[in-house]
Amino acid sequence: ISKIGVLTSGGDSPGMNAAIRAVVRTANHYNIECYGIREGYNGLIHDDFTRMGPRSVKNIITEGGTILKSARSLEFKTTEGRKKAYENLVKRGIDALVCIGGDGTFRGAKIFSEEYGIRVIGIPGTIDNDIFGTDNTIGYDTALNTAMDAIDKIRDTATSHNRVFFVEVMGRDAGFIALNSGIATGALDILIPEKKDSIEELFATFEKAEKAGKSSSIVVVAEGEQLGSIYDLAKATKNGFPDYDIRVVVLGHIQRGGSPSCADRVLASQLGYGAVIGLMEGQTKVMAGMQSNKLVYTPIEEAIKKHNEIDKNLLTISEILAI
Ligand code: ATP
Repeated sequence: ISKIGVLTSGGDSPGMNAAIRAVVRTANHYNIECYGIREGYNGLIHDDFTRMGPRSVKNIITEGGTILKSARSLEFKTTEGRKKAYENLVKRGIDALVCIGGDGTFRGAKIFSEEYGIRVIGIPGTIDNDIFGTDNTIGYDTALNTAMDAIDKIRDTATSHNRVFFVEVMGRDAGFIALNSGIATGALDILIPEKKDSIEELFATFEKAEKAGKSSSIVVVAEGEQLGSIYDLAKATKNGFPDYDIRVVVLGHIQRGGSPSCADRVLASQLGYGAVIGLMEGQTKVMAGMQSNKLVYTPIEEAIKKHNEIDKNLLTISEILAI
């Protein structure tokens, strides 16, 4: 290969910049021309490319977000949109793409590659950590620490006022952030999409906590929790325990921002490097990931279909340690 393109797509995550930097500099090292594509697949369609040399990525390893910007491109889901994208790649002589994003991004890359034979490699960049084929996704560790710091602060005020806080963290389909930040902050209960919860069980936990002499509590709730919205949960709890002083905090997009953690910078550097090496070795329609400290390539098909499983043992541990 002599020319590659790199893009960030879907939800942004801290560390995407470090991954871009690693792709650009590894490509430069091996005399491969590298082009940055702005706003995900939209940039492919609208011919928004920029030549990236090693100095173009200086100082970005510390920055959250993505200098290439990200987007959800509806046009890329159409055959006409992908045709335009292909024509732009041909015009510029680009023969391979590095796509940094989540499973939607990989789905798009796979379809595009199957239609036009363009070589693609994925890098998992999402805070949710729900992608199969890598122990961690880029951005997860930073998001986890952001959530933990925020919940620590909430605990200070919860304790001072004997309050019950319901804290919502991100994770529409996966409870990784909720489970791990909940354990790290000593949450009374953790509600995640992977586990069947009931109001009765939640109430029983509150009763147990009362008996144990707890005067304030934090319940961490993943966005995708099945029991209902966090406001419904708080309302139901107020009905069951009218004496409780209950507050709801939705952490929201602060979890997506901030300077990436050391672990995310290192992971992004490994995967950015690994993606270029993979392309040079002839890999295509695979995702670069790290498993047990080893660089591995997983077929995109598999990365999309399967999911990282949460460690059920952690649920038990959290229950034992909470009270
Ligand atoms: P996150 O999970 O962090 O939100 P993601 O990569 O899953 O990230 P999506 O919005 O689902 O985010 O996907 C990103 C982009 O990938 C879409 O906006 C679209 O351009 C492209 N894409 C997703 N699915 C397809 C598909 N079936 N065909 C073509 N393109 C797709």
